[in-house]
Amino acid sequence: MGLISSKDLLENAKETNYAVAAFNIHNLETLKAVVEAASELKSPVILQTTPGTVKYAGLSYLHAMADVASKENDIPVVLHLDHAEDYDLIVRCIDSGYTSVMIDGSKLPFDENVAAVRKVVEYAHPRGVQVEAELGRLVGAEDDLNVSEYESSLTNPDLAAEFAEKTGIDSLAVAIGTAHGLYKGTPRLDYDRLKEIKKRVSIPLVLHGASDVPDDMIAKAVEYGINKINIATDIKIAFVKAMKKYLEEHPEESDPRKYFTPAIEAAKEVAKHKISLAGCKNRA
Ligand SMILES: [Zn+2]
Repeated sequence: MGLISSKDLLENAKETNYAVAAFNIHNLETLKAVVEAASELKSPVILQTTPGTVKYAGLSYLHAMADVASKENDIPVVLHLDHAEDYDLIVRCIDSGYTSVMIDGSKLPFDENVAAVRKVVEYAHPRGVQVEAELGRLVGAEDDLNVSEYESSLTNPDLAAEFAEKTGIDSLAVAIGTAHGLYKGTPRLDYDRLKEIKKRVSIPLVLHGASDVPDDMIAKAVEYGINKINIATDIKIAFVKAMKKYLEEHPEESDPRKYFTPAIEAAKEVAKHKISLAGCKNRA
């Protein structure tokens, strides 16, 4: 059916209380893994690339691969730009056929974040492209914040409502205790904060840093109103682990078709698990 906008997809997820799994892909192999997983489970899927991946693989290659995947599989496929800070890159992605973009102004003061996001919305919406933005900031173990600094990095529910209204965005990424990458201990998710945000904000909510979070915590976050979960690290780890194992067992092997095959399979299994967890199985 070709790449679709995430608007109806995420609105439907919001209305029926599930989340769409969004996977960061880096090459043909990781793209195949997540698309095959989604296709087998009859699930919609959001493919996302960071600016770093665009630099690595090239915009036209990424769009072309995603476009083929969307036409060869009978499921809704979205191509999303993740964590972009550069307006010009966002414009290039929209012009090249990305159907969804995230403008990450979360490091900026509130008013500057609003202005940066608003500018992207004004370019994206007339072109049928959806915009995600973030309020609050995901912090990692390396940030080493004290309690009050940590609290202030989380999304403020009142400001979230004002932010959504002033920017006109289609979905909001919230900071409720998740982090990017692997966690030092068990993450703590602030469900009360999520519930407060949900009460005030009517657009779909996005959870970044959903890798390495226990399943029951993700399920609870979805139950309380998350409509998109972002998975990057878990796919990468499964992929590279299987590839390393194969190469350890076959040290002479040089054929990429041999060592990528188990890597794709391993990433696919993880993707299937996340899709089921998000509740988007059989939603295609
Ligand atoms: Zn993220």
